[in-house]
Amino acid sequence: MRIPQSEKELTFWERIYFPEVFRGLAITAKHFVVNMIRHTLRLLGFKNVPKGAVTYQYPEEIRPISTRLRTMHRLARRADGSPRCVACMMCETVCPASCIYIVAGEHPDPNIEKVPIRFDIDLGKCIFCGYCVEACPEDAIRMDTGIYNFAAYTREGMVLTLEELLAHEPAPYVSVPTQDKAPDPGPLAKSQPVSAPASA
Ligand code: SF4
Ligand code: SF4
Repeated sequence: MRIPQSEKELTFWERIYFPEVFRGLAITAKHFVVNMIRHTLRLLGFKNVPKGAVTYQYPEEIRPISTRLRTMHRLARRADGSPRCVACMMCETVCPASCIYIVAGEHPDPNIEKVPIRFDIDLGKCIFCGYCVEACPEDAIRMDTGIYNFAAYTREGMVLTLEELLAHEPAPYVSVPTQDKAPDPGPLAKSQPVSAPASA
């Protein structure tokens, strides 16, 4: 029977650890030297030399992202700035990570039944599945901010509040539908990916 790679016994040289450390260092040094030589030669005008490896100089240079990438949530607003959300709890119900918490209140407009008075999303638990966006009957929650580089020092710091969700803006490449008009997939599909915001 063929033993899977992960279950293979380590050799004597692997078990004493240091030869493997030096082997790894040698591989890294080899790549460094080769790429440095290639970059230098191309800089000196030798254009037939293969290009050296390049990397994004993060965080100064942000990697372009797909327009379809699910990024940090936001809550869409009505024309008067109030949440479009009607606190139907569909997103909270469908969320597989149970990381949405909504408290509903009465809306001052009798034509709108409810409005969220509290809307929390715990990003520490969120798995970015997008089910909340799919389930929303009002197109009120979206994951199109382009923000993916967020962090916090505490678990509480990972919780997005109603105010924060309403303050988020869509990423520049996103085609935002009006309240009466469905999203037009044409320009969105054709648009080129752009850099995400530098900070959350
Ligand atoms: S993306 Fe998925 S896990 Fe995150 S809040 Fe929405 S439904 Fe829950
Ligand atoms: S965001 Fe959408 S699905 Fe979630 S409570 Fe509001 S209206 Fe319902």
